[in-house]
Amino acid sequence: MTACIFCKMVSGEIQPDVVYEDDDVLAFRDLNPQAPTHVLVIPKKHYSTTNELQPEDAELMGRLVLGAQKVAEIDGLSEQGYRMVLNCNEGAGQTVFHIHMHVLGGRRMNWPPG
Ligand code: AMP
Ligand code: ZN
Repeated sequence: MTACIFCKMVSGEIQPDVVYEDDDVLAFRDLNPQAPTHVLVIPKKHYSTTNELQPEDAELMGRLVLGAQKVAEIDGLSEQGYRMVLNCNEGAGQTVFHIHMHVLGGRRMNWPPG
């Protein structure tokens, strides 16, 4: 089976603009940024959607949030604020089926989101 595009980033086959990496997560800049900071934080392990997560994955998802916290620190957004978004399935706007957390900031974020 061919690996998904984000798995290819984890394996090094495709080289994204990496912002942060640790044993469990990889964070890289979105190709089509929707804000001055638009970074995707992904688990290195493949899950298509958040529907696949099991109770034992709770720590990994916590590490995703900590990855986002790190990205915000790196881009100087910790104080002014940033948004973390996880889209699950097409109705929510998911287009890449490997879990990813969007980290958006550097401009005023509106609520409710579109
Ligand atoms: P979503 O619509 O929530 O599935 O988000 C997928 C995101 O992946 C979009 O914001 C895309 O711009 C981004 N994306 C797709 N391919 C790449 C790539 N090769 N490198 C960086 N970001 C990508
Ligand atoms: Zn994948």
